[in-house]
Amino acid sequence: MLVLVLNAGSSSLKYSLRRFDPTQPGAGGVKIAKGIVEQIGESEVADHLQAFDIVSGELAEVLGGRTVDAVGHRVVHGGERFTGPALIDNEIIRAIEQLNELAPLHNPPGVQCLRAATRAWPKVPQVAVFDTSFHRTLPEPAWRYALPDELYRRYGIRRYGFHGTSVHYVGQRAAEMLGVPWEKFDGVIAHLGNGASVTAVKHGRSVDTSMGFTPLEGLVMGTRSGDVDPGVLVFLLRKGYDADKLDSLLNRDSGFKALAGHNDMRAITEAAAAGNEEAELALEIAAHRLARYIGGCHVACTGAQAVVLTGGIGENSAPFRARLLTKLGPLGISLDAAANEEATGMDEGLRISTPDSVIEVLVIPTDEERAIAEATLALVGLP
Ligand code: ADP
Repeated sequence: MLVLVLNAGSSSLKYSLRRFDPTQPGAGGVKIAKGIVEQIGESEVADHLQAFDIVSGELAEVLGGRTVDAVGHRVVHGGERFTGPALIDNEIIRAIEQLNELAPLHNPPGVQCLRAATRAWPKVPQVAVFDTSFHRTLPEPAWRYALPDELYRRYGIRRYGFHGTSVHYVGQRAAEMLGVPWEKFDGVIAHLGNGASVTAVKHGRSVDTSMGFTPLEGLVMGTRSGDVDPGVLVFLLRKGYDADKLDSLLNRDSGFKALAGHNDMRAITEAAAAGNEEAELALEIAAHRLARYIGGCHVACTGAQAVVLTGGIGENSAPFRARLLTKLGPLGISLDAAANEEATGMDEGLRISTPDSVIEVLVIPTDEERAIAEATLALVGLP
């Protein structure tokens, strides 16, 4: 059984092809091909349709005469409608397209790829897996903004949360590591990549998360600001900024890029270690805010059994993790420095807290593509 996963980002298209053993569908299958088309819109690849053509060309070579049995698509925003993976048909594609307005940077590429893939493989079942679905369990005090109800009813302005597929996946791995059933797992999960968010999980359900209406709220990210006083936006509007300028300021020209000049965490930690003050301050700002959110999520899940770190930074940056954990001392967390140095680019999870740490800290590699493939298979069923 061959499952293709397509992951359309704002300027990239990733794919991965997995073979599943029909007797062990939950075992994740074996990855037999993967690839990425990058710099879409900034290079000779003009848009995601062209990127899709490149990907389907590469796949045709890998597949020889075979066809894929199912396609799983990552879709960022599922709004309130999509509380779980959805089998694609035209009505579903239109419904996802209606959500483009909520995630103008992230959803349109996904929709383009959905259309292209259903045209290219009309007989193959296709499934959309949403970043927002895992957060469908957010309680109302966590998802409501203190704004007039009219804005929610008219525009759907509320907190949705993102990174759900990754959080669910590493959360389950964390529960396995702790030896507790998923339904009894309480923890704080920080997905730290170019986009970054923290989620509070109580009894295996999302109960709070740092991203909101869009993937812009919360932490300091690669090029996104995370939290700013909304009053700043009103001030800038009065200074002549328009929507596009604000959008690009907050999404593309802020975060580590604004604070340290670029968004490569390895280079930033190296610069800070070499005495660069800008880089040092950027790391302190990001770690300070992250620690504050982790403390908040610890409260939101009524006491975490574990803090879990994942994503490119969480999985690989020992210096950033050490900086963060020093700030988590008041939660009774203490760092095992040797284990922390060891935890880089692993296939398995690793504990980086000392045995007497009140809360365990785990580094667990995420695998969104595997999670999407498994969700796709679960919906499509085995032949
Ligand atoms: P995305 O959100 O785009 O999927 P990733 O999860 O790949 O992003 O994370 C990207 C981030 O991870 C970047 O900030 C990058 O600098 C950082 N990163 C990747 N590898 C390392 C490493 N070996 N050491 C430190 N940081 C790393």
